[in-house]
Amino acid sequence: MRGEMTVQDRSLATQLEAVRLIYNEIFDRYERKPVAFHINASGGAMVELISILTCPECGTKHEETMPEDLCQFFYRCSNCEVVFRPKPGDCCVYCSYGSVKCPSKQEEEENRSA
Ligand SMILES: [Zn+2]
Repeated sequence: MRGEMTVQDRSLATQLEAVRLIYNEIFDRYERKPVAFHINASGGAMVELISILTCPECGTKHEETMPEDLCQFFYRCSNCEVVFRPKPGDCCVYCSYGSVKCPSKQEEEENRSA
């Protein structure tokens, strides 16, 4: 025995980081698009964390990594400097203007379909 660490010995964070790097490499090679996700503690569901926000004022697209633990209510467009908010009924700007809904909504939909 050479005392190597097995996968099981590593912390979850280390494993996730390793997986994330592999995915980034794959996506970078084939799609030139970064990817971020987390695996939630309850179900092991993958959640997309990168959303492309489209400014409702000028139409500029902003690729952003969404915070996992809070809903982003305001977003300031770096092009036209307009600060926009979610549409009525939506919890955050990603649900209203993003290409991907926020992590908590993704989990909700995941749970509903399961
Ligand atoms: Zn704008």
